[in-house]
Amino acid sequence: TTPEHPLRVAVIGSGPAGFYTTYKLMAKIQGTKVDMYESLPVPFGLVRFGVAPDHPEVKNCQEKFEEVASSPDFNFIGNVSVGTKSDHPDGLTVPLASLFRHYNAIIFAYGAAQDRKLGITGEDQLKGVYSAREFVGWYNGLPEHANLNPDLTQGDEAVVIGQGNVALDVARMLLEDVDVLRKTDIASHALETLSQSRVKRVHVVGRRGPMQAAFTIKEVRELMKLSDVSFHPVDSALLPTDLKSLPRAPRRLMEMLAKGTAATSQSPSETSKSWSLDFCLTPKAFSSSSSSPDSTQGQLASTTFERTALSPSPFDPNAYALPTGETLTLPSSVAFRSIGYKSTPLPEFSDINIPFDERRGIISNDGHGRVQHEEHTRGAEMLHRSFPGLYCAGWVKTGPTGVIASTMENAFATADAIIEDWASRATPFLNTDKKCHGWEGVRSEVLARGDEKRVVDWQGWRRIDEVERQRGKERGRSREKFTRTGEMLNVLG
Ligand code: FAD
Repeated sequence: TTPEHPLRVAVIGSGPAGFYTTYKLMAKIQGTKVDMYESLPVPFGLVRFGVAPDHPEVKNCQEKFEEVASSPDFNFIGNVSVGTKSDHPDGLTVPLASLFRHYNAIIFAYGAAQDRKLGITGEDQLKGVYSAREFVGWYNGLPEHANLNPDLTQGDEAVVIGQGNVALDVARMLLEDVDVLRKTDIASHALETLSQSRVKRVHVVGRRGPMQAAFTIKEVRELMKLSDVSFHPVDSALLPTDLKSLPRAPRRLMEMLAKGTAATSQSPSETSKSWSLDFCLTPKAFSSSSSSPDSTQGQLASTTFERTALSPSPFDPNAYALPTGETLTLPSSVAFRSIGYKSTPLPEFSDINIPFDERRGIISNDGHGRVQHEEHTRGAEMLHRSFPGLYCAGWVKTGPTGVIASTMENAFATADAIIEDWASRATPFLNTDKKCHGWEGVRSEVLARGDEKRVVDWQGWRRIDEVERQRGKERGRSREKFTRTGEMLNVLG
């Protein structure tokens, strides 16, 4: 049967997952109306607050998102957090329960706003130990981290723990010529701090070897090409000798690592800055200078690692790291942990009981984005409990890995699941017996008079965007971001 009313959807989160799911849904189910809730006054999630400022081409996906937002069936509801108190004082909150009453479907696309910790001595106490997530948010102007003020003046050695592309972004920001960054949309407070940085040597450290590392060739190449920055040679014992037998992607990466120094015209002694990929090291402790009575108080001075051995062989892509008992201490005046982002359940979920897989850090789902809980019965039989009308997409569905292209694929898969369910009605939706009023209904339930002014719609975002670009133009930059939500809202009067 053809549904009587058009599909009304609430999307929570305006990153790539939210936009790509919306795009496909609106294209395939005629008349679908989407309200997109976003905690911040500005859209695009990690495209604005994660992707490095010197990667402007990656942000081209925003053009597609602008196109989606231009539909009269699309409604942006910025500065409104769902199910959790907003992180900033100007933000509004709506309870999830209210969304349940006014939509047919809810799509959780709220990403991964936390990060994994190392759990080692000194991590929380010492000055100079930062999370890469906070540092990235800070240089990209994320209001939540606008006050981070990382101190890069205590010495010249930095350690980045983790060897994914985020770790390489952090290393590049520390090493890149500030005059190159000046033209980008990097937050101006970050330009100021980076221009005073004393960091000259960056170690990017991983537990395993080059054959197991998560970074990709493009990011390594970019670091290799920075001017006045050299690369320290990789331990050749960790590189396979017979590169020809490797598949194309690892072969090219290994060739680049092997050639690294030869290709760099200058040696580390000839350049002002340098970096290295330090393999087979597990972090054990951060310590302050030995002169202080308690090594877990005060300013970071060194990081201690245990060397690992790779089993069954350093060349096996699935090799795991075994402890050897041997330690190594690297001087470090600043350290960044970069071992992965993490999604969390929205606090309110516990009442509404949205199943969350704590181990994998995702909303439990059937792999296609339908929220679903698996329970083992006594007889070890698997029972699936479904949650009609609830879906998830993006990093909160898959875990915090993958680029925008893979996020797009998984968002499309979620849209396909909704399209299939809506067509077949095999899975029920929310409120199918009545007309849903979406944001209008929610607004009338939860917003007090005066609150409405603080809700940012798409026109409001366009205005903020315009002012940011104009401020940038005046300073010869692509954009001068606002880094406080109050400043963003002030633009709207
Ligand atoms: P997000 O982009 O995180 O979007 C989630 C949105 O939900 C956010 O806007 C958030 O504010 C909002 N939100 C959260 N909670 C709530 C709530 N309760 N109510 C309302 N809204 C909420 N990919 C590339 O292709 N190229 C790159 O160069 C690249 N660089 C990256 C650099 C970094 C540092 C990181 C972390 C990622 C990078 N990526 C890159 C990956 C890319 O950013 C992700 O694949 C993608 O952003 C994931 O999309 P998402 O929509 O799931 O999450």
